[in-house]
Amino acid sequence: MTLEHDFASRLPELAVPWRAFHPETPRTLVWNDALAAELGIDADRLPEPLRARFLLGNALPRGSAPVAQAYAGHQFGGYSPRLGDGRALLLGEMRDPAGRLRDLHLKGSGRTPFARADGFAAVAPMLREYLMGEAMAALGVPTTRALGVVATGRRVPRDGELRDGAVLARVASSHLRVGSFQFARGLGDGEVLTRLADYAVERHAPELAGAPDRYAGLLDAVVRAQAGLVAQWVLVGFVHGVMNTDNMTISGETIDYGPCAFIDAFDPAASFSSIDHQGRYAYGNQPSIALWNLTRFAEALLPLLDPDVETAKATAVASLDRFGGLYNDAWMAGMRGKLGLAHPAGRVAVDDGALAELTADMLTDLQRHRIDYTSFFRALGRAAAGDSTALDGVLPREGGGSGAGDGGSGHWVQRWLGAGPDADEMNRANPLYIPRNHLVEEALDAAERGDFAPFSRLLDVLARPFEEQSGSERYERPAPEGGPAHVTFC
Ligand code: AMP
Ligand code: MG
Ligand code: MG
Repeated sequence: MTLEHDFASRLPELAVPWRAFHPETPRTLVWNDALAAELGIDADRLPEPLRARFLLGNALPRGSAPVAQAYAGHQFGGYSPRLGDGRALLLGEMRDPAGRLRDLHLKGSGRTPFARADGFAAVAPMLREYLMGEAMAALGVPTTRALGVVATGRRVPRDGELRDGAVLARVASSHLRVGSFQFARGLGDGEVLTRLADYAVERHAPELAGAPDRYAGLLDAVVRAQAGLVAQWVLVGFVHGVMNTDNMTISGETIDYGPCAFIDAFDPAASFSSIDHQGRYAYGNQPSIALWNLTRFAEALLPLLDPDVETAKATAVASLDRFGGLYNDAWMAGMRGKLGLAHPAGRVAVDDGALAELTADMLTDLQRHRIDYTSFFRALGRAAAGDSTALDGVLPREGGGSGAGDGGSGHWVQRWLGAGPDADEMNRANPLYIPRNHLVEEALDAAERGDFAPFSRLLDVLARPFEEQSGSERYERPAPEGGPAHVTFC
């Protein structure tokens, strides 16, 4: 196996050579066989303890050049010109069997010159990132994925207690962020910014390489990728929780599973992070925050868009103006699938206007009655398959006694059924299993006590989210009512 150091050698202004710390008694807790195979890593040649040393960045191929990446970022709206990998390292890039470069990156590998705290990570949050990434990948959402988690054998102080320390090794199509461009722009050196943009084009929009308008093309590509990504988040009920510009990728992959969570009841104001007091990154705010972040990206790129500032601004605005339509199209197409209306069999045609009305009525019902978002769509799927009682106890009977399922013909359920929704299509679009907050916490609590059975079981269930798995009923159900509100921490 070889590790390239493409980023480090081509963008040294954004890379600080650094080494991962070397704990005495590391132990691999989780290893991602499927991802390893995808990368062409021969797991048989990595027996313990070599595997742990590899995942820690302690045993690297000759010639490796690990670096801490520099980036800036708007955190909750406030700008920090110098953030960077404070407890993370880019070990290098691997070329997968398809010839694509993939970053191999560590988190929790010790303090770097960018550190804002101790440089370490605790086991539970690293397992959480592993689990969330796998769940998102199985749901078909673009994401970074973890290759493994290693317990360092060292304790780290967290919230007044000592926790077991861990390092996460993750793989991404790159770690270029909006914040990387903000940092390069802040250097005041147009040549570095140009080099970074060309590098991003090469890795994420290679079809644009060499084109005279490639930087406008890059902006367009990132706008498109992020519009599609955030639409997928919203469709699946995901709240990222910390959409700072340093946590938004150029590739359009979900990155940095810190305070993220899935909604139970549908609620645009749903927010779980203990530090997001204003609800800035609430579920329903994610599209507008994405556009805000993309606007920061466009600002950083301005000098490359045109030598004339006004022309550059006009190019940026034209690109940013496309976000709304792209987001809407992606969301509507997703909703059409969730409602089984891509190839309807019924008499009532559902054009985009009718679909928009239908979904607006449906979401109003979901929100008003605090209906569990994920299980609701599976119940609809059963209704589409002809189960006339599927919605009993899911949608309340409307005032006047007519049930939602058999109510007046104006009711959205009637309109939807009239269109002949395809139940099979719905079951392919609507997950039965998501990483529900209470299940994740239960699995992590057990893992912290040394019992990995619940974690492995949950990981297994989440690997096939659309397929009914016998004996897994408890993984379908929302959290028991009356439990404490879910709060996440970074
Ligand atoms: P985040 O909000 O987790 O994306 O991180 C924001 C900044 O804080 C980044 O520059 C991180 O590298 C840094 N940071 C977060 N946690 C730690 C830690 N435990 N030690 C050092 N730096 C950290
Ligand atoms: Mg981050
Ligand atoms: Mg973080």
